[in-house]
Amino acid sequence: MKKNDQTTLENPRDIHYKDDFPKQRQPAPGVEEQMNPRPDTGEESYRGLGRLKGRKALITGGDSGIGRAVAIAFSREGADVAINYLASEQEDADTLCADIEQHGGKLHLFPGDLSHEETGREVVRQAARALGGLDILVLNAGRQTAVREIADLKTEQLRKTFETNLFAMYWMAQEAIPLLPEGASIITTSSIEAFEPNPQLLDYAASKSAIVGFTRALSKQLAPKGIRVNSVAPGPVWTVLQVTGGQLPEKIPEFGKSTPLGRAGQPVEVAPVYVFLASEEASFITGQVIGVTGGK
Ligand code: NAD
Ligand code: MG
Repeated sequence: MKKNDQTTLENPRDIHYKDDFPKQRQPAPGVEEQMNPRPDTGEESYRGLGRLKGRKALITGGDSGIGRAVAIAFSREGADVAINYLASEQEDADTLCADIEQHGGKLHLFPGDLSHEETGREVVRQAARALGGLDILVLNAGRQTAVREIADLKTEQLRKTFETNLFAMYWMAQEAIPLLPEGASIITTSSIEAFEPNPQLLDYAASKSAIVGFTRALSKQLAPKGIRVNSVAPGPVWTVLQVTGGQLPEKIPEFGKSTPLGRAGQPVEVAPVYVFLASEEASFITGQVIGVTGGK
């Protein structure tokens, strides 16, 4: 885990966990609480500077991994936060809630399956009601299931991947845009898989490429309204997504080793880009995809 001492300069190769990961497997979507080692989502290490004071943010997939680190970072930066997640992830949502409240922040919980259109729309409406408005929408929920051969890729998986990773973004954006004020920001999570696809992730990689197209097109549509739309494209980041079928099991120990920095990223290392994109400091940045990939 990263140390809090900001005064010493450290080699980025050594800041976080860099050994082989222990083999492990959970059924999807999994619970981060049961991972070994636990991903660093910033509870101890993220330092807020008040950059999102007064903002109202909804984050999908906010219980664990990258979304959880974004929820913590946004909260430490002064935002009120609402998250969506699946009901089976309540344990992660509860520990996040406890952490945020312990630090004087506020978290609203809206579980629900976003692959159902009406659920996604309802989550946006409920979150905006609870937060008293909405000015940051982080569309981050996703599923990833590695399949060795195209012949084994089932239509059911294909549908679920696209409904969850992509269609939900359209439904939630449609519902949110009329509520968003000038200066608001939408941030999607795409992936390095959009640019350097893995042969075992035919459906996932295609959904992530589509997210890039969606983000860029929507940014042009919303620029006249003063709403910015950007995407973050993470490389290999140690999250429960990977140990619930996102990677083939034999690839877990070496996960992330092929990056130029020689290790997997941790969610806390991705969250600052969402903070930046949501803040006014990024006022001239829209339609962009920012990579956080360890150099890939
Ligand atoms: P994660 O499993 O911690 O987060 C994914 C979240 O998506 C889950 O917590 C779950 O709440 C949500 N989700 C999945 N299916 C859902 C559904 N049907 N309805 C509602 N919510 C659903 O893993 P993560 O790695 O933090 O993933 C976050 C995002 O980052 C995903 O979009 C993923 O594709 C993307 N990403 C991850 C990596 C990586 O290496 N971990 C790399 C690139 C992109
Ligand atoms: Mg989760």
